[in-house]
Amino acid sequence: MKRTLLKNITIISPFTKPAFIENGFISIKDETIEEVGSVQPQNQDYEEVIDLGGKTVLPGMINAHTHLYSSLALGMPPPEKKPTNFLEILKEIWWKLDLALDEDSTRASFEAGLLECLKSGVTTIFDHHSSQNFISGSLDMLVEIADRFGVNLSPAFEITDRNGVERFEAGLAENLVTVGKYADHPHVYPMIGLHASFTLSNTSLEKIRTAMDDVNNVGIHIHVAEDKADQLDALSRGYGSVVKRLHQFDLLNADSLVIHGLHILPEDAELLQELGIFLVHNPTSNANNRVGLLSAEIFNSLNVGLGTDGMQANMLTEAKEGALIRSSHLAGGVENVNYLELLFKNNPDLASRLFGRKIGRIQPGYQADLAIFDYQPRTEINESNFGSHLLLGFERPSEVMTRGEFRIRDYKFVDFSEKIIKENARIQSTKLWGKMKTIKPLINANRR
Ligand SMILES: [Zn+2]
Repeated sequence: MKRTLLKNITIISPFTKPAFIENGFISIKDETIEEVGSVQPQNQDYEEVIDLGGKTVLPGMINAHTHLYSSLALGMPPPEKKPTNFLEILKEIWWKLDLALDEDSTRASFEAGLLECLKSGVTTIFDHHSSQNFISGSLDMLVEIADRFGVNLSPAFEITDRNGVERFEAGLAENLVTVGKYADHPHVYPMIGLHASFTLSNTSLEKIRTAMDDVNNVGIHIHVAEDKADQLDALSRGYGSVVKRLHQFDLLNADSLVIHGLHILPEDAELLQELGIFLVHNPTSNANNRVGLLSAEIFNSLNVGLGTDGMQANMLTEAKEGALIRSSHLAGGVENVNYLELLFKNNPDLASRLFGRKIGRIQPGYQADLAIFDYQPRTEINESNFGSHLLLGFERPSEVMTRGEFRIRDYKFVDFSEKIIKENARIQSTKLWGKMKTIKPLINANRR
């Protein structure tokens, strides 16, 4: 048993009671927060007492949907043919990238991506992975790296028909093996990853359903109605919507994650709510792909989490940019969505439920995942205005702790070299971009 005391800190844990503590302390026992408050306990009981000199502590943040496989896409050359719609973006960019990734470039993507997450104080990640020519063992590699970084991980491999039946089967098997292997791991919550309804045939959905009968307590992680094309596909197959199609195949349960949902119908939202499913909103990706704006009704009728869809690692930036993108479409005086609520209330609720342990708040009983900022505000920060500071003032944490252990101290990684990881990422990314140019999709179909 190890007990640590963090003292001389301002604690901000939004949507928690109390949400703001000045000159506070956090007592940690092994991996778990034991006590939080302002009247400091006696020092002698602790193996380590750390005076943080007035720094500000936030909960480690949660990214409810991302793609670490796209970490090396930053700076990649533009596609030969400029995409003019969502399907062309997938075909020209992402479906070439995920075929070009091999074992080495996948590893480099995971390491470089997780590095940025931790540097941003993001300590829990729901990843939707796709490396369609390196399937078997890819999730195992991701779990191993995430464990080394001390990050909570929900791995899922994107199953799809678009590269033929062999790769479909391999994708399904990779998910099932991972669920079997890590179902009881405290820091891993494996899910069954489906790319999207429009790249999966009825036969494939049936196969997935049958396979899922053999694994307990597992949900699917799937892109839903990100673009109208997905919804139109479901209609052309004779279903009323993507959500109805998935429900007809009995693929939706309370442990599922539905991503995007821009074009779902009001009755779809009702069904998801009835089933207790979280929808994950990714505002910067939606803006980048020009697929639409999530309707106000969805926010009002569903539990909505926040993800980045691989666009960036920093969740505070995603919240800020999400708020700004939405504001640009609102009339004066109209209330915006509370993005801090998505990040600091809904994401912890979502992660705590799926992982089955308390994650994402600074409260006794929660996992000791903390992002510590050397924040020097130019105006007072207090209980009533910390939200503005979080959205507009906070940048990068100086310290990051997960499971009660420091992973970053004074902006430097404790256990590994950022320089070596980035050097390798640069070598791998150049190779990867070269390989992408040679990729022709194996089956050039977006509807099967
Ligand atoms: Zn996505």
